[in-house]
Amino acid sequence: MGARLRTIERTCCICRSKGDKRTLIRLVAQGGVLVIDDHQRFPGRGGYVHATIECLSRMGQQQRWERALRLKGASLEASQVSRVVMELMTRVRGSVAPSEDRGSGKVHSRKIRL
Ligand SMILES: [Zn+2]
Repeated sequence: MGARLRTIERTCCICRSKGDKRTLIRLVAQGGVLVIDDHQRFPGRGGYVHATIECLSRMGQQQRWERALRLKGASLEASQVSRVVMELMTRVRGSVAPSEDRGSGKVHSRKIRL
């Protein structure tokens, strides 16, 4: 335990499957506000969700996040979850990557010829 592995796995709060931390989005609650932890550095307990339309579209229940983030007392507003979902959805849709380049080493770059 505690070994510094290159691949840090986290569990998606929505589909419950594990994935490389870098493919997941970390969310934390700060003062009752759900925020996107882009650099995965915010203190506190974070919850992870896959950066996919499938998982994002299913994360709209704030109870799920209150549970995932172990929020006792402080509760999230439903509107906050939907705001975050909206933002992430926009990002995911906006960055339709041509292929998953996970550094396999043999990514034949598909350069667009002009
Ligand atoms: Zn997922």
